[in-house]
Amino acid sequence: MVRLLSIGSLFIPIFFFHWVTLLLGIKDKINRLVLWISYGASIVILSMANSPLFVSGLQQKMFFILWPNSGPVYDIYFSFLYVALITYTLYLLIRYYFIVKDSKKKGQILFILIGALVGFGGGLTNFPLWFNVMMPPYGNFLVGAFPFFLGYSVLKFGLFNAKTIVTEVFVFIISMVLLIQAILPAALWESILRWGIFVLVSFLGYLIIKSVYREVEQRERIQKLATDLEKANDRLTELDREKSEFVSFATHQLRSPLTAMKGYASMILDGDMGEMSKEARQGVSRIFDSSNTLMNIVNDYLNITRIELGSMKYAFETIDLKALIEDTIAELKPNIEKSGLAFSFKAEDRGIDWRVTADKDKLKQVIANLIDNDIKYTPSGSVDISLCFDRANHKFVMTLKDTGIGIAKEVLPHLFQKWSRAGNANKTNIKGTGLGLFVAKEMVNAHNGTIRAESEGEGKGSTFIVELEPLGKV
Ligand code: ADP
Repeated sequence: MVRLLSIGSLFIPIFFFHWVTLLLGIKDKINRLVLWISYGASIVILSMANSPLFVSGLQQKMFFILWPNSGPVYDIYFSFLYVALITYTLYLLIRYYFIVKDSKKKGQILFILIGALVGFGGGLTNFPLWFNVMMPPYGNFLVGAFPFFLGYSVLKFGLFNAKTIVTEVFVFIISMVLLIQAILPAALWESILRWGIFVLVSFLGYLIIKSVYREVEQRERIQKLATDLEKANDRLTELDREKSEFVSFATHQLRSPLTAMKGYASMILDGDMGEMSKEARQGVSRIFDSSNTLMNIVNDYLNITRIELGSMKYAFETIDLKALIEDTIAELKPNIEKSGLAFSFKAEDRGIDWRVTADKDKLKQVIANLIDNDIKYTPSGSVDISLCFDRANHKFVMTLKDTGIGIAKEVLPHLFQKWSRAGNANKTNIKGTGLGLFVAKEMVNAHNGTIRAESEGEGKGSTFIVELEPLGKV
């Protein structure tokens, strides 16, 4: 019986060592050698566990009626496997405790170390009696501390994967049962058969455990990749924000000199600074147009960064939508006339209350942008704007219809995205940024309104429709 009990405890040191190397990811040659030699030695000792070499006899010791006496093989087991191997394993744990940087892993190692010190320290008190030193195994109860510490660190740090534990326990139990059977006295051929089955099953079990470990390892790697990806994503969002702040700052700085250029060019063109030649006038007129274009681009960028940073401010007030459209058209009159297009604006006329809640400047910017686009993308023909009240949906509907280059079906769904420019737009007007409609949509949305585009296809004209909520009963 004592011999049978010893079988279980015989493997404790080597299993502990093996497990710690797996936990710490120790795979170097020396430790592998230690592992295999120790396994080999444990098995050799095990095969002798049934002989007087292991337990030389039994006698009464202190208050134990029967206590075993150690044989020479037991001495080897005690000094090399218990004392030396466990001390070495503890040394590895201490060393890795200082090497490892990850605080979670450090915590794990510390708990295992404390548990092992208490547990194996307590276990050590089992041995004196074997060697006829009259000291009772009073520390035995401390052995229970190890599972306690281990259990705690499992809960705290998620040390094991349930799958690996189940597999290992399962393989261990089967192997132990087979091992005990192999050791029990039997006919030679039967003993050989039992040992054969034990070795085969243990080997297969080892392969299964290894594959489970590999699977767990892979999953952990994927998890780590996911965390890394999340970190990278956070960093990118942060960089994106910094970029937006930078663009916002830079465009702000560009605006003042541009305003000065535009203002002075306009004054010169108005003749405020005296007469000038036709050529000079043409030159200044170009400066005025270019600074105007540049100002629009700068404003688009500024709006984009404000949208991205969420810092776009709206000053809502009550305004008359019809009057706002008329004002905008009046401001754009020079451009409209220059284009040579037939232009019309019609509003439903039945004493409708055209009041809406809106940020006047922003809504004006949207309307101006749409009219500008109509002019830009309509080489010839007409631009017709209408305003009506949709009674069924209780919405004001502003429609801008042109006879221009039109929009291809596949482009329509992306039209209001950032940087979106159709191929035909590039041919007609190379000066666009593809930001105007994106900004317009953001602004209309902020007014609880909608904006959409319709077109029969390229060359068939386009229609842009803006819907807004009326303020009053209409
Ligand atoms: P931009 O005009 O600076 O390119 P927008 O955001 O204002 O940027 O417009 C995006 C794209 O939508 C244009 O490049 C063009 O392809 C298309 N588009 C806008 N308005 C019209 C229109 N009236 N007719 C045809 N295509 C248009």
